[in-house]
Amino acid sequence: MRRLSDLLLGTEPLLRTRMRFVLLAMLLYLCWILMHGYCIAQGYFSMPAAIPWVMAYDCIGMLAFYPLVRSGLTARQSDPALILPQILYGSVAAALSYALIPQLRMPLLQLLCLILMFGLFNLRPGRLLFAGCFAIGTLWAMYLVMAATGAPHFDPHREAINLAMASIILALLTAISRHHSRMRGRLREQKQQLLQTADQVRLLATQDPLTGLPNRQHLQELIERECKRLERGGQPFSLALVDLDHFKRINDRHGHANGDEVLRNFAGAACAVLRETDMIGRWGGEEFLVLMPDTTLPAATNGLERLRAHLARKPVVHALPELSVTFSAGISVHRLGGDLERTLERADRALYAAKAGGRDRTVGDDAPEPGRLSARA
Ligand code: GH3
Ligand code: MG
Ligand code: MG
Repeated sequence: MRRLSDLLLGTEPLLRTRMRFVLLAMLLYLCWILMHGYCIAQGYFSMPAAIPWVMAYDCIGMLAFYPLVRSGLTARQSDPALILPQILYGSVAAALSYALIPQLRMPLLQLLCLILMFGLFNLRPGRLLFAGCFAIGTLWAMYLVMAATGAPHFDPHREAINLAMASIILALLTAISRHHSRMRGRLREQKQQLLQTADQVRLLATQDPLTGLPNRQHLQELIERECKRLERGGQPFSLALVDLDHFKRINDRHGHANGDEVLRNFAGAACAVLRETDMIGRWGGEEFLVLMPDTTLPAATNGLERLRAHLARKPVVHALPELSVTFSAGISVHRLGGDLERTLERADRALYAAKAGGRDRTVGDDAPEPGRLSARA
């Protein structure tokens, strides 16, 4: 069953939805053709010479749309399931039967309503209006031809009343469908806006607006995630607190806007120079934190020294080539069984030592395994 449905409808979800519509329309044509067969047997056709043409028209309608949609030829069009062409084609089929089979005139109205329903969930308001007008227009065109040619079994007065009633119902149905179509459009827009707002809220909650880096809260989540990985058998990781040296002076001498530019460009340089697996975020003010998974002190120190060398080579702000930006850093390594608060405190103390030692340097604090520490104590 599954293979047959894959063969008939395809495997792509959007294509499958379109194909369900096409198959439904094919089923409708099949019923319509069978009904015509019955009418032929009963001799209901007022112009028997037209029978082959009407049957050919219905068969083309039943078979032509399937390969077009199934092959994906229409996939890039605004109406990939060819709903509008199918409605227009079906309206003409209904109008032909209206002209040629007097006994089918009443069920025709129901058929036309059904044909318009295909557009209800799929067409934009403008196209729906066009489809409704086309269906009514073709019926009236048929009426005029038959009234003018004095077709047999055709009472223009009675048919005018029937058609007027049919037109009112079709017009109402079109209006309701348009209303639904508009509401659907509005709902789609609102959903889009909601998704955008949710994205913005997520960004605001996790990102520092000035540098675009993860903010302190998000960094804490990332560190906790790394701790859990360590508990599940992962490797020790390093935390580095990085503080720009004499940043207040930069603000005082070059203005707050240039200070912001320094923070932004420093963040950009750090992202470019540190390894892809390292995560840097803004810890607060001119202080950053680098989380280096699966990294112990030598590699962590290396990474920060690479960043230091990069900053010494290239001006951080292009417009201020004379402005040199340096930083002090304190690194601590977090091992299994360690206390995260303590690891952060050790990084902070190491940073303080780097400042006290003259700035522009990195100080590391690699505590021994907590197990070994207690054994020694
Ligand atoms: P040290 O070398 O000891 O780290 O000194 P410092 O001047 O870098 O540190 P201090 O804590 O004295 O000053 C930090 C300054 O960073 C003060 C504050 O106005 C500035 N700052 C904090 N956040 C921002 C920001 O978003 N933009 C700008 N331009 N400045 C900021
Ligand atoms: Mg500072
Ligand atoms: Mg500071």
